[in-house]
Amino acid sequence: MSRVDLALVGARISTLDPERPAAAAVAIADGEIVAVGSQAEIRELGAAAETIDLHGAVVVPGLTDSHIHPLQGALDTRGADLRDLTSLDDVRDALAAERQRCAPGQWVLGFGVEYGVFRESGIRGDLFEDVVEGSPALLSFMDLHTAVATPRALELAGVTGPRAFSENAEIVCRDGAPTGELREWAAVATVERALPQLTDAERYALHAAALRQHAAAGLTGGHAMDGTLATHDLLRELEAKGDLVQRFVVPFTIVPESQPDDWTELLPHRDASGRRWRAGVAKFFIDGVIDAGTGWLYDPDSEGECSLPFWPDPLHYRRAVATFARAGFQCATHATGDRGVREALDAYRDAGAAPRRGRHRIEHIETLQPHDLPRFAAERVVASMQAQHMLWCEPDRSDNWSQRLGPERSAPGRAFPIRSLRESGAVVALGSDWPVARFDPRLGLSAARLRRPPSLQNRLPYDDEAIDALAALAGYTTLAAATIGEEDRLGRIRPGFAADITVFADDPVECDPDALPDLPVLLTVVDGEVVHRAD
Ligand SMILES: [Zn+2]
Repeated sequence: MSRVDLALVGARISTLDPERPAAAAVAIADGEIVAVGSQAEIRELGAAAETIDLHGAVVVPGLTDSHIHPLQGALDTRGADLRDLTSLDDVRDALAAERQRCAPGQWVLGFGVEYGVFRESGIRGDLFEDVVEGSPALLSFMDLHTAVATPRALELAGVTGPRAFSENAEIVCRDGAPTGELREWAAVATVERALPQLTDAERYALHAAALRQHAAAGLTGGHAMDGTLATHDLLRELEAKGDLVQRFVVPFTIVPESQPDDWTELLPHRDASGRRWRAGVAKFFIDGVIDAGTGWLYDPDSEGECSLPFWPDPLHYRRAVATFARAGFQCATHATGDRGVREALDAYRDAGAAPRRGRHRIEHIETLQPHDLPRFAAERVVASMQAQHMLWCEPDRSDNWSQRLGPERSAPGRAFPIRSLRESGAVVALGSDWPVARFDPRLGLSAARLRRPPSLQNRLPYDDEAIDALAALAGYTTLAAATIGEEDRLGRIRPGFAADITVFADDPVECDPDALPDLPVLLTVVDGEVVHRAD
């Protein structure tokens, strides 16, 4: 027995290990759990370098967010926080305040705008020209698939009219002139390129700070959902400097304009890894989002949109999937619309190759055809779901998302069908898609149990697709581990498993879901290191 680095004692441990579901103490050495048992059993191992008496606090396996943008998100959440603002006036006020914080003429940024804000006005950049006093301003929407730029921002970026893109993206124009609405990244990037560049040091500091915040909320890791070869360099730097306080799986994002030569170049990097991160995943987008009309549906939405895939040639997408799947990569495909979901299922089936670790996976699945639902379990495809995304939806279906889909496609069992997928036998992993929703796993757990925002007790749940507390916890622990094929090492508190642990003041399973967001996180341990400790 090696020396014990860290012993947690006096705890109520929910191990999620069927062989020993409860314990009072756990011993950790070299980043691994070496013993789980009674106080006496752990004391017998000898003095630990550090012993923390938790005084009855509740220990659970470390919470993993199965869909998060931990690095890009840190850059995308600069400026005014516009999340949860429901009126145009509120957004204008927030931007006026942000303008005061900035130097005159400096770019005013904001993130998290909701589509409903523009219900009456339409999405237009000139709505903000006066409150930012003529400074250029760029606001990203809560799903990051749309942005709105002010006339001054468009002018600085040299955007004067429509442009053609090789993916499904659009500079929205009226009478030939841009309105400021930018649909999908290629369009957003035309304006983003005009933003002053951050220095390397500024970028690094933003990344490192975000990871600390995630640890403080009880997260021990995530399936990061965007990446390039440069991301590997960043992870190596974070790890070398002691700032990688989360455990990550990081994919390569494969874009529609990429060609077989580009794919081949990435294949040798499948097994790139550090101590707390690894590659091995290829991430695709087969559509955009329902809210903006860029999701891909079998039949168009109520505005005649959502009829196009993000990859103009879906056969090209299938070739890419086949290339990576056959090279042993796990494939992850963003698919919000039912047609997009089917395309991903078909692409995985046609590739005919399981990943070396884990299962292929589909992200979001905002609406699903009943005949496609059993395919997840039957074809061993993970459903990666984000319950917080439907908190914007109103139970009376008056919201933009439900209106676009209409009653049939937003019906129970069709809209964000978390419970139905679970009951069909599919692996359902949970996450936030931060910065689209808040990264706090307590909010994610609560949303999966409530199907409405916490504390809005007088609001009905959207439907009856809620899951119970244990199922929600599994979505952040054991099932997150199964998704990436690491169920023999992550997601439980068991000897031989990685020492990723979250400690709450009380039991998150017993906790009322409305109170869950306020349940204190006392301690977060990643790889045996205490990365967050409440005062
Ligand atoms: Zn995402």
